[in-house]
Amino acid sequence: MSSFKFYKPDNMEDLLKVKEELGGRALILAGGTNLLIYIKEGSIREGTLVDIKSLKELKGISGDNGYIEIGAGVTIAEILESPLLNDRVPFFTDTLKNFANPLVRNMASLGGNIADASPIGDTIPSLLVLNGRIKAACLKGERSVPLDRLFKGPGESNLKPDEVIRTVQFSIPERGKGTFIKLGLRNGTSCSVTSVAVWLAAEDGRVEDIRIAFGGVAPIPLRLKKTESLFKGEKLDEEKIRALSGEIDKEISPITDVRGSAEYRKQVSVRLLSRAVRICMGMEE
Ligand SMILES: Cc1cc2nc3c(=O)[nH]c(=O)nc-3n(C[C@H](O)[C@H](O)[C@H](O)COP(=O)(O)OP(=O)(O)OC[C@H]3O[C@@H](n4cnc5c(N)ncnc54)[C@H](O)[C@@H]3O)c2cc1C
Repeated sequence: MSSFKFYKPDNMEDLLKVKEELGGRALILAGGTNLLIYIKEGSIREGTLVDIKSLKELKGISGDNGYIEIGAGVTIAEILESPLLNDRVPFFTDTLKNFANPLVRNMASLGGNIADASPIGDTIPSLLVLNGRIKAACLKGERSVPLDRLFKGPGESNLKPDEVIRTVQFSIPERGKGTFIKLGLRNGTSCSVTSVAVWLAAEDGRVEDIRIAFGGVAPIPLRLKKTESLFKGEKLDEEKIRALSGEIDKEISPITDVRGSAEYRKQVSVRLLSRAVRICMGMEE
């Protein structure tokens, strides 16, 4: 039989105290779009639901000198509507246009998408190419964790049992262009089969800097640093893009599941990367 308690902290300190006291048995309830499904399915059967929706310390989007900080409790809809983000980093807001559907976007939080540690969380590839970090808070203080060191496996992160994600931060690169492509089984209300984010800066067709991150091709969302190093310094044409994109084979390890086979994921990932690079180079819309 399931057994749950419910607690609504008034402020951040109360939240951190309950996490200190109960650790992993304090189940942070943000939008609940994942957590309530886990409870309904029976994969979580007990604990104290800690409702953080009204905590203002987890809200807010701010930006200064190319540096952006977003509260973990900010919803996907709030990110999409943010004048600051749409003005300063439209790449990131564009990323989320195909996230679930309006109903889910109104509930789902950025912190929940990251804390869930899904290999196909749609906010993560773009945050990885922006060199995003989280601030993890506990009663003893805060630490900053780069996103590429946060994830351990599907549903597993390096967050400690007494920690909560307070904010997400990144710097907007000074030069270049980014894009995110998500392949789902449908256009709407569909999780990713695989997804790619690319940020690329080029001069006269030659790559000066490139960052590549994928969702759905490994147990965790992944930065492809070896493939990045192959692109760097190269003068790109169609043939070169195709050839270099094929090299991701050595870095990815997709699985077969209900959304697609490992082989299918490998093949479409090569195509998605080629397309993303061409878009960033202005060779395709
Ligand atoms: C119909 C449907 C469609 C969906 N489509 C997509 C999609 O297209 N793309 C996509 O990426 N996801 C999708 N999802 C998954 C889900 O909406 C997201 O992962 C969402 O961002 C989770 O946020 P939440 O606020 O609802 O988290 P919750 O469900 O409240 O929490 C999720 C997990 O994170 C923990 N948590 C939450 N906030 C914090 C915090 N601040 N600190 C520490 N731990 C925390 C919770 O304890 C829980 O373990 C979909 C879900 C549904 C139901």
